[in-house]
Amino acid sequence: MTVKQGRRPRPELVRLPGPERKSDYSDPAPLPEDLQEERRLRPLRIDEFVGQGGVKEQLRISLEAARLRGEAMDHVLLHGPPGLGKTTLASIIAHELGVEMTPTSGPVIEKPGDLAGLLTNLVPRGVLFVDEIHRLSPVVEEYLYPALEDFQVDIMLDRGPSARSLKLNLEPFTLVGATTRSGLLSAPLRSRFGVTLRLDYYGAEDLARIVRRSAGILVVEVEESAALEIARRARGTPRIANRLLRRVRDFAFIKSDGRVTLDATRAALTLLAVDERGLDEMDRRLLEALITKYAGGPVGLNTLAVVVGEEAGTLEDVYEPFLVQEGFIKRTPRGREATELAYAHLGHKLPASRAREVRESPPAAKPGAQQPELPLS
Ligand code: ADP
Repeated sequence: MTVKQGRRPRPELVRLPGPERKSDYSDPAPLPEDLQEERRLRPLRIDEFVGQGGVKEQLRISLEAARLRGEAMDHVLLHGPPGLGKTTLASIIAHELGVEMTPTSGPVIEKPGDLAGLLTNLVPRGVLFVDEIHRLSPVVEEYLYPALEDFQVDIMLDRGPSARSLKLNLEPFTLVGATTRSGLLSAPLRSRFGVTLRLDYYGAEDLARIVRRSAGILVVEVEESAALEIARRARGTPRIANRLLRRVRDFAFIKSDGRVTLDATRAALTLLAVDERGLDEMDRRLLEALITKYAGGPVGLNTLAVVVGEEAGTLEDVYEPFLVQEGFIKRTPRGREATELAYAHLGHKLPASRAREVRESPPAAKPGAQQPELPLS
């Protein structure tokens, strides 16, 4: 598989590290330093993709069916938090089908003409990867529907009174859409995907396998216990696991003999202010504000965002899903609440009123359980 060059991948997702971002290591969006390395570390075949068993099984079936029928594969929607492997899976799909992948992203396609240009340049059964597909404009989205259903687009010829539209047949293709916010996708767009796959945060064992695999590619010696330590502190996210590995590798190289030992890992992670549950400064600031300024909540997301000095969208996409999954925050219709675990982790005493509530309420959802998407509040 080849990826067409000439378009920078997902520039709007790249955050430049600034002095205000002390712990950028835990930002699941790619940092400039990641882009080069990620290309090397990205698995090419579905068997190299670690974890996400159910997702891989469904993909294998769709790939095999497309291969046997000799047709383009069904359109695929991938959703889940950043850094979990959506782009990787899109390029694996293209690679397994033996076709080119053309990457782009929702906000980059400004008008129908941009989309027409991309669609008419696809190779037969090619893969068009649209990251952040929830950010497509309504007119572009409308224009996409006939392309997805009938592989046809309307092209406008001329302008003004002599304008005519021409129906153009496209080569069959597969759209792979990725989103961190599936709740923002319109129902008509969602219904056009034959396969919808949700990626979940990874467990420590799977992340440790990813760390070991990456260490092999980067030719770094990593102790088994060190791989597991990095995995446990990587917020369930392969991109962060790989980034931590590189930071620990650099630390070990400067401070000792370059081997990534458990001691070197712990020392490096302490320097990065990652705690033993993988929470970083921003996670702790968020929980601290919730507990000390709002008596544990409930408090609206926008209010929290102002207090911790981060955008509400970033809190909702990046920080909150992990804190919810690990059981530090509860999302309720009235706002966000700190859980008993959050109080204990930050060393705060649970107020008597909350302790009573906890005793009387039904058992909390298990960490890792899905919570419904709630609107920003
Ligand atoms: P997303 O598109 O969801 O933000 P990416 O696909 O860009 O995430 O993944 C980020 C990096 O993490 C990739 O470069 C890849 O090296 C690594 N990665 C993600 N998922 C896996 C996986 N299941 N197995 C191995 N590496 C992975």
